[in-house]
Amino acid sequence: MTDLHRLSIRELAEGLSQAKFSSRELTEHYLQRIAKLDSQVKSYVTVTPEQAFAEADAADAALKAGNATALTGIPLAHKDIFCTKGIKTTAGSKILDNFISPYDATVVEKTKAAGLVTLGKVNMDEFAMGSTSESSYVGATSNPWALDRVPGGSSGGSAAAVAADLAPFATGTDTGGSIRQPASFCGLTGLKPTYGRVSRFGIIAYASSLDQAGPMARSAEDCAYLMNVIAGHDAKDSTSVKKEVDDYIANLNGTSVKGLRIGIPKQYFNVVGLDADVKARVEESLKKLEEMGATLVEIDLNMTEAYVPTYYLIAPAEASSNLSRYDGVRYGHRCENPADLMDLYKRSRSEGFGSEVQRRILIGTYALSAGYYDAYYVKAQKVRRLIQQDFLKAFENVDVIAAPSAPTTAYKIGANLSPTEMYLGDIYTLAVNLAGLPAINAPVGFDKDNLPVGLQLIGNYWSESQLLSIVHQYQQNTDWHTKRAAIAEENA
Ligand code: GLN
Repeated sequence: MTDLHRLSIRELAEGLSQAKFSSRELTEHYLQRIAKLDSQVKSYVTVTPEQAFAEADAADAALKAGNATALTGIPLAHKDIFCTKGIKTTAGSKILDNFISPYDATVVEKTKAAGLVTLGKVNMDEFAMGSTSESSYVGATSNPWALDRVPGGSSGGSAAAVAADLAPFATGTDTGGSIRQPASFCGLTGLKPTYGRVSRFGIIAYASSLDQAGPMARSAEDCAYLMNVIAGHDAKDSTSVKKEVDDYIANLNGTSVKGLRIGIPKQYFNVVGLDADVKARVEESLKKLEEMGATLVEIDLNMTEAYVPTYYLIAPAEASSNLSRYDGVRYGHRCENPADLMDLYKRSRSEGFGSEVQRRILIGTYALSAGYYDAYYVKAQKVRRLIQQDFLKAFENVDVIAAPSAPTTAYKIGANLSPTEMYLGDIYTLAVNLAGLPAINAPVGFDKDNLPVGLQLIGNYWSESQLLSIVHQYQQNTDWHTKRAAIAEENA
């Protein structure tokens, strides 16, 4: 079979359970595609054929023995921020070059327990700080829709791998948009769950009060399959929540679009820098949802101007604390011939961290320092609360809130945006993390350069089922999610 990469997760599961193909054949098919095509996309940091074949054979045995799960034998890729036992985990940083974790992240443990086959680890911005995946120390990843463009970030490798059909689906993490924005740039569906829905154990920490893992795939249905595996309480993550997990697949048609009230924040559609094509495609998608029975309600989100400054204080503050553990002593990069302990710290960290990470450590350390703590960090936390309240007020009148995922489509690789320009590109995604809410990106068309545009739907707490269901029904009525980049059409 040459077209296994065109099958949805449901079709793959059916094919495997009916023995139309084996997990080994499917795994081999993807590994061949990676070998042939990933030199152009550069989505993988590490490919793990040996482990993949061993897992595939175990999956085939389980399928034969009749003790398979719904997803046994289906391959996936993990963002290189998830710790994987015995396999290098770098978080895109030289300081973790050659770091091999002694344990699996809970998300990885869960995908293994579900019988999924790990193809390898995919590229990302260094420590998940960025929106282009260019800050990875192994180099940039390309957007499958235009190889001279970025795939977005920080989960750019996950997005590029799926969009080029080099993995059926992938895990990502989202601290301020890192699932939704690359999904938008690469024409995919990506879900950032409610804070606490998915365990953070074994995910290399960026900003712990904002980090959350989620699925990136071709469709809401494919995302729902992965959510069914990774969601749930974990005693090893004290911020994960003890709350029953929905069956996201069973709920795919559970929300009625008829009568659904979609909030349209006035402030969001007047943002300077919102590309005209992005605005037009998002508005068309809302029109489609209206045709399907939804009601569009204009709402106010008055705190919009505070999103970027608030996030870019809190996230660097937490990062400066989290990243203090990388000191060249226990693991990772260590400088040559340190003169003394101070020199060891200084040079290991200066050599090991890239410039964006260093910038954030500096900003964060400053914001947390005695004398500035109240003026910056505490103030940002207060504003964070106001941003959350703004959303809660809006949810008194609407079921979900619509926005673009990003103000533009994918940038050119090497565009060299200033930090401020790059941070402003996160305007639509940051507040969701500050408030801890779930949100989803769905592809809704293309701009004049044939680059994908994404619609973001933000839900109230624990509304993952609802978001997946709305997008699933939209995808039953449209075909944007079925469009493939030219490279994905190539056979290996
Ligand atoms: N682009 C944002 C940042 O650089 C968000 C990154 C993320 O979600 N990990 O911090």
